[in-house]
Amino acid sequence: MIRQAVIMAGGLGSRLKDKTTLMPKGFIPIGNVPIVEQSVRKLFAAGIEEIIIGTGHCGEWYESLAAQYPGIILVKNERYAETGSMGTLACCAPLVWGDFLLLESDLVYDAIGLTVLINETHGDVLLASGSTASGDEVYLEPDTGGFLVRNSKNRADIPVLAGELVGISRLRKDTLGKMVAYMNAHLVDEPKLEYETAMSAVSAAQSARIFIRKIEYFLWREIDNASHLAMAEALYPRIQEAESLRQLRREVLLNPGPATTSDSVKYAQVCADICPRELEFGDVMEWITTELSLMVGKSGQIETVLFGGSGTAADEVMLSSCVPDTGKLLIIDNGAYGARLAKIASVYKLNFDALKSSGFMPLDVEAVKAKLLESAYTHCAIVYHETTTGLLNPVPELCRFCHDHGITTIVDAVSAFAAISIDMDRDCIDFMASTSNKNIQGMAGVAFVFCRKEALESIQSYPLRNYYLNLWDQYQYFKKTRQTRFTPPVQSLYALRQAIIETKLETIEKRYARYSACWEALVKAIKKLGLTMLVPEAAQSKLITAIIDPASPKYAFEDLHDCARQQGFTIYPGKLAEANTFRIANIGDIQPAEMAAFTTVLETYMRTL
Ligand SMILES: *Cc1c(COP(=O)(O)O)cnc(C)c1O
Repeated sequence: MIRQAVIMAGGLGSRLKDKTTLMPKGFIPIGNVPIVEQSVRKLFAAGIEEIIIGTGHCGEWYESLAAQYPGIILVKNERYAETGSMGTLACCAPLVWGDFLLLESDLVYDAIGLTVLINETHGDVLLASGSTASGDEVYLEPDTGGFLVRNSKNRADIPVLAGELVGISRLRKDTLGKMVAYMNAHLVDEPKLEYETAMSAVSAAQSARIFIRKIEYFLWREIDNASHLAMAEALYPRIQEAESLRQLRREVLLNPGPATTSDSVKYAQVCADICPRELEFGDVMEWITTELSLMVGKSGQIETVLFGGSGTAADEVMLSSCVPDTGKLLIIDNGAYGARLAKIASVYKLNFDALKSSGFMPLDVEAVKAKLLESAYTHCAIVYHETTTGLLNPVPELCRFCHDHGITTIVDAVSAFAAISIDMDRDCIDFMASTSNKNIQGMAGVAFVFCRKEALESIQSYPLRNYYLNLWDQYQYFKKTRQTRFTPPVQSLYALRQAIIETKLETIEKRYARYSACWEALVKAIKKLGLTMLVPEAAQSKLITAIIDPASPKYAFEDLHDCARQQGFTIYPGKLAEANTFRIANIGDIQPAEMAAFTTVLETYMRTL
């Protein structure tokens, strides 16, 4: 698995003269976006978690890029004017911790090149193409096995041609170490060493054999001078076309999960087979649990436990694992999901009461507090965001009260996590359930339970009420082995990994702002069309909206659904016994403009009534 990339961006770009006197080459825009920023987006979409950029000339330009994309780390090569690209790469080397992709900053390229390298069997690979006729080719010579032995800008030096150097490679950390050692041994005779020369040297000496992977018709250009820039601009539409051919048909899911996902999340599932008991997959799962924990608490305070299953599995894990036989549980039921918690508790014959409350009016917290004290409850379970209606429950207030009274808190945050900002310590939540296919914007199949560490430690001796869904056993086994007890949903976990990368890039705060903007577009239309929302605006999550069915006798949810579906929008019926509603969710990888487009569909349908 390739998780890091290094972009070498130290060069002066002196052959582009006025364009790059005050700006690094990577910031030349093509199609209005700086080429290095396009490269950064492609790398993150290909599953890279961290990009190290080695800067030099006009390095400050990269600071704004790093501010925009969490996951970028900058390293400055202070001696950029006296060294070649290898000098910049050597500055980045101490931060590299595994196999990585290596790129030059001045490339425009088809993202498929990254996929090809990531999918390569060889650990060290250099990407090559057929003839570019760019006038600045670096020719590559292979040995009989196809491994690099020499590179030259002079075609005559290369008796057998493997292809032209593209400037995108995949290297092992070890190989990088050998290249740095080569550089240090040649500081006097090759002060301006280029990285490709160091590659050829270590590969020819057979200390690390670097395979040449040629894609004959690879679409790419490096921009070193004005004529290259013109060529790159001419090639750019072809790159865009090639990439757009791989996009999937757009479906905007306005149902409350599974939510719309990015193509990069969908494609993350397509990878080489792996046995999930391999160390490499253990790394993936450990990274996922660490990153998920960091989204809901400070480092080291939260443990995330993964299960194969949907969100309900995580609810069942919590209820069956976190209440002792001597415990007494109060479940707040103000919607279908609260009722589901009560149903699960009854299946396990827990000692519990369900406190019913209106499905659309704000929860009366004082009444809940009084009830909790009235008969010595030890545990309280509540749904953070009732997806049935879009009602947001005052979870932090209630859970703080519980903690003040020694009551353990169990929260179904399946449809709140990754949209609403949650800090389990601050908000006094002991156990919390969520899933991979809602606001985190991954695929269905992974259920997870977040646990405050002390709360988790306290359940060790609780009775084992089931086999598959036991929280403590799953946690212990993973801690010891970095494996799940039973087969995990491998491909859903890869998709979840990509979804986490994308959530970190967007940030949960900005995601909620985007979701809210979608909700506002919807509410604007609802008001214009004279429709009524079930829940008072102030009590709404802004993540899903329950709308009372239009009064017209001609109204049929199925008709509205079919109209919307034809236009690429999927909507969902209501789920509340108390009122006839339909629901529009605005979670997932969707944009306000798409919600606005949906409202015109709604408007068109309403006119037919
Ligand atoms: C979606 C959801 C669940 C889980 O439903 P599944 O069908 O099991 O994925 C649980 N609780 C809430 C509040 C939800 O929104």
